[in-house]
Amino acid sequence: MGKKDRIRPPKPCDICSKEADVQFRIQTNESGNWRIVCKTCQEQAASSADYLYGGTWKRKKRN
Ligand SMILES: [Zn+2]
Repeated sequence: MGKKDRIRPPKPCDICSKEADVQFRIQTNESGNWRIVCKTCQEQAASSADYLYGGTWKRKKRN
C-alpha cells in the first residue's frame, strides 16, 4: 500500500509562539476559550486560579 504517514505541522504556542511536537490544551480565564500552549507556558499557567487542563496535543498520531 502506498499510504504515507500523515504528520501534522507543529503547533505554535498561543502565548509565546514556540513550536513543539507536544503541546497542552488549557484554559486560563473565564472566556472558556481553549489555548494550545507549550510546556513552559502550561507550567506557568498552572499556578493561576482559573487554570483548567484539557489534555495533550501530540503532533504524531499513534495507531
Ligand atoms: Zn509557550
